[in-house]
Amino acid sequence: MTILVTGGAGYIGSHACVELLNSGHDIVVFDNFYNSSPEVLDRIKEITGRSFLAYECDMLDEEAMERIFSENKIDAVMHFAGYKAVGESCEKPLMYYHNNIQGTLTILNAMARHNVKKFVFSSSATVYGDPQSVPIDETFPLSATNPYGRTKLMIEEMLRDLYAADNSWSIILLRYFNPVGAHESYMIGENPKGIPNNLMPMINKVAQQELPVLKIFGNDYNTKDGTGVRDYIHVVDLAKGHVKAIEYIENYNTIESINLGTGKGYSVLEMVHTYMRVNNVAVNYIFTDRRPGDIAECYANPEKALRLLNWKAEYDLEKMCRDSYLWSVSATKR
Ligand code: NAD
Ligand code: UDP
Repeated sequence: MTILVTGGAGYIGSHACVELLNSGHDIVVFDNFYNSSPEVLDRIKEITGRSFLAYECDMLDEEAMERIFSENKIDAVMHFAGYKAVGESCEKPLMYYHNNIQGTLTILNAMARHNVKKFVFSSSATVYGDPQSVPIDETFPLSATNPYGRTKLMIEEMLRDLYAADNSWSIILLRYFNPVGAHESYMIGENPKGIPNNLMPMINKVAQQELPVLKIFGNDYNTKDGTGVRDYIHVVDLAKGHVKAIEYIENYNTIESINLGTGKGYSVLEMVHTYMRVNNVAVNYIFTDRRPGDIAECYANPEKALRLLNWKAEYDLEKMCRDSYLWSVSATKR
């Protein structure tokens, strides 16, 4: 298949490009490099030894979207492009609704015009809001606690409406838990601009002594050690889940939401201590107040992905911590 990868220079998109190419698929990529750089595309080519066409353009640009679909024979779209910072989405909600919602609509309209009806969407565990229990399965009630999460929820609903109106579409909503790690070439990885929000890039910066201390947001949660528990998943496992998803909708017309997680919950302290041990580095930390909007525990029931896609995560926390660290070392040298 030829897959159009939107946001293919980003963290998860770049890893998905590698796995798609390694699985024998062809790709076409576009990105506006708002949160990434063009060199990432060269590195994908170097890692895989394969070439592909890439466009620098914005998904909000209707003419550019039309051009991409006119110039290429696209079979399916994997949609990563979007803004993703929760805090920023609270400060600039219109910017988030415009980019994420309007951008997705522009792509879907171009797809409809060109009769391309296979779509894999980057959703998030954030659509479960504050879940009543863990592990979380796909039938849990959906809600959002911030504008970013609401864009994911709205797009999911838009896609369900689209399928209800025309069941020749085939759509998978992949709900990611907490992606970390990097490809073991250490040529691509997560490269947040500015001060990171997420735990792993923050740990990397403290280990590299670019930041003095990790603030652990709360040690009074009702969890194993009082710190927040999440389902961290290696980005390469996550990327492989996308290949399985695209191969699934090659054969079925359906709409399915599917969790991509490991099913295991680790606390912030477990994460920090594993990172220090496997990498033999110090990570200074202090406990501070809870971060507003954070929940105590979040981890997946990943059985549906196994049942439908024959996919499960393979890499453990040690590998996630090692690859995150080695990527951050290689990124600082570059
Ligand atoms: P990322 O920021 O690294 O990648 C997104 C890419 O989209 C970037 O390269 C950016 O330049 C591009 N982009 C943004 N707006 C664009 C536009 N208007 N036109 C063209 N390109 C545009 O983010 P990521 O971590 O790779 O996340 C990919 C997707 O997965 C996002 O939709 C995100 O919401 C979702 N997601 C991420 C996580 C996570 O923890 N990283 C968790 C759940 C869901
Ligand atoms: N966290 C933390 N310090 C940080 C960043 C995150 O203690 O600097 C905690 C956060 O409270 C949560 C976990 O790490 O319990 C994962 O947070 P992240 O922002 O990476 O993901 P999300 O909250 O979206 O699951």
